[in-house]
Amino acid sequence: MTWNCEFYLEKEKLIKVLSFGHGKTENEEWNPELIFDIYKTRLNELNRLKNSFPDCKMHKEHHKYIQKAIDCASKAKEKGNHPFGAVLVNATGEILLESENTVISDNDITGHAELNLVKNAARLYDKEFLSTCTLYSSTEPCPMCAGAIFWSNIRKVVFGLSERKFYSLFDKRNEEILYMPCKDVLDKGNKRIQIIGPVLEDEAIKDHKGFWD
Ligand SMILES: [Zn+2]
Repeated sequence: MTWNCEFYLEKEKLIKVLSFGHGKTENEEWNPELIFDIYKTRLNELNRLKNSFPDCKMHKEHHKYIQKAIDCASKAKEKGNHPFGAVLVNATGEILLESENTVISDNDITGHAELNLVKNAARLYDKEFLSTCTLYSSTEPCPMCAGAIFWSNIRKVVFGLSERKFYSLFDKRNEEILYMPCKDVLDKGNKRIQIIGPVLEDEAIKDHKGFWD
């Protein structure tokens, strides 16, 4: 990490904020890497805290899009597919694309709603534009879809039903379970992708109840 003028100016203030409760002694030397590490930890703590209140005010702005993704999931189910849906929203809040799961109708095991959406989006828009878009998914993206989201350069993901709660509907020994939260995949990458969820989880789980029995 390199020091710059702006960082120097803010350094003292930053140290005061970050060192609060950190337990660092006077004699330890502050260096940019240490400050950066603490900053990252604090940011992760804040994000975790925010995400632990799925239906709090902060997530209200996402409700209508998650509801749209859930509607797509319901439509997929009506067509005999698995109940998953996704939508792509641009920076001004306009819904650009909608997609459904097509695993059964296309006889394609990769026909997940998010992958269908990302493939379509990548054909229509360039990576720079996609970096300003948000993908809304009725259920937390699986590792395959999380990978596709990473390659598409979409930088924000909001999901309804969490993977943990989704798999709680299955028998624990079910061989089709691949438990890996999308955060675990996306955090491995070098670019930052914001992940928010669960949002409207009680609504998002409805189509799944009884479906996987
Ligand atoms: Zn998937």
